[in-house]
Amino acid sequence: VPVVAVVGRPNVGKSSLVNRIIGRREAVVEDVPGVTRDRVAYDAEWQDIPFTLVDTGGWETSVSGLAAMVARQAEYAAQAADVVLFVVDATVGITDADAAVTRVLRRARKPVVLAANKVDGRMQEADALELWNLGVGEPYPISALHGRGTGDMLDAVVEAFPEKPEPVIDPVEEEGPPRIALLGRPNVGKSSLLNRVADEERVVVDSVAGTTRDSVDELIELGGQTWKFIDTAGIRRRYRALQGADYYATMRTGQALERAEVAVVLMDVSEPLAEQDIRVVEQVVESGRGLVLAFNKWDTLDEERRYYLEKEIDRQLSRVSWAPRVNVSARTGRHMEKLVPALETSLAGWNQRIPTGQLNNWVKDQVASTPPPARGGKQPKILFATQADARPPHFILFTTGFLEDNYRRFIERRLREDFGFEGSPVHISMRIRE
Ligand code: GDP
Repeated sequence: VPVVAVVGRPNVGKSSLVNRIIGRREAVVEDVPGVTRDRVAYDAEWQDIPFTLVDTGGWETSVSGLAAMVARQAEYAAQAADVVLFVVDATVGITDADAAVTRVLRRARKPVVLAANKVDGRMQEADALELWNLGVGEPYPISALHGRGTGDMLDAVVEAFPEKPEPVIDPVEEEGPPRIALLGRPNVGKSSLLNRVADEERVVVDSVAGTTRDSVDELIELGGQTWKFIDTAGIRRRYRALQGADYYATMRTGQALERAEVAVVLMDVSEPLAEQDIRVVEQVVESGRGLVLAFNKWDTLDEERRYYLEKEIDRQLSRVSWAPRVNVSARTGRHMEKLVPALETSLAGWNQRIPTGQLNNWVKDQVASTPPPARGGKQPKILFATQADARPPHFILFTTGFLEDNYRRFIERRLREDFGFEGSPVHISMRIRE
């Protein structure tokens, strides 16, 4: 979701404008330097396009000189934002602080939408025109108080959003049954598993244009729902020469992952976990897809092997301790019915979104109970958090300093404890104000 930061010197009406955009009639908090407000990010939307609105009013720290303070605030905001909404008081005209902000914004090279506020009637329209002199483009005459002109201004904001990055998944494929990549090194039982699930149900073979030659998907009903198994030709093919070659296997796995939403990595418990098993798991994590770990040939397991298997899993797969596990036997059909709930869990985690308000309250609680460790004598603060994306979930923490890896891992662990995200990788990145 694009981030829009509202910047400007105190008293130009930033808070009123924020309230106007999010459509709430909250008491307008005065822009008092040095006052940090609790919430600075809001979920907003215009023309059905969602964005995160950041109110920088609360970022003001005591730095000598108003212009310097406002410029610093603008600099930070510009770093964090996709679009900057620069608010100027049209009735006052251009001040030193406004000029300082302009210089900062020009350096930052982010799209700027200039709002000429307090244009409550025809009288002030001429004042707004004067703001062309700032040299940041067209001033949009608005009245944050009465709502006048804010529609045109928001049109310009939405217009300035960065182009959506090319989705990794073919948008045509976005609809229809959930897509599964069944992965694993040769002989772990992929083909047997596929036969087992397909035998019980009608299978529709679906040729895929434009992917690996002779790539074939199969639609299989499982648990009352249709699933699309990706590139089953690569699994069912009887000549294994290609699979033996590492390079082709990795490539084929990568191509399947590109089109999948969730991957089942199948492993063979009759043998020690192999490096190749771990590599496939890593490949799934890198791809950002949902993950289910399936341990096959459970019928072969005896007490001793079971003991060592637990150790191997703890040691080698600790990085994906969040992935649901199923212990199956393609031969006997053991626990095959557990596959569907695991897939559903993983997909749900992969698709989950936490609303910004809820997320920020949660972050506040975490920081209160476990503050980020100080670094170089300074205690980093988390100013706010937003979930920028799902499929897979991606969180951005806006901070005043570097958060140690340990602390980010702590946040991820706590996120998982409180919100689930089971079966999905979770990305957490930082944007630092310095
Ligand atoms: P793929 O290369 O991953 O597709 O593996 P296959 O499905 O061809 O299976 C490799 C071998 O493992 C075959 O001999 C299967 O009969 C055997 N196999 C598959 N699943 C099981 C299972 O659950 N238990 C046992 N004991 N053997 C299995």
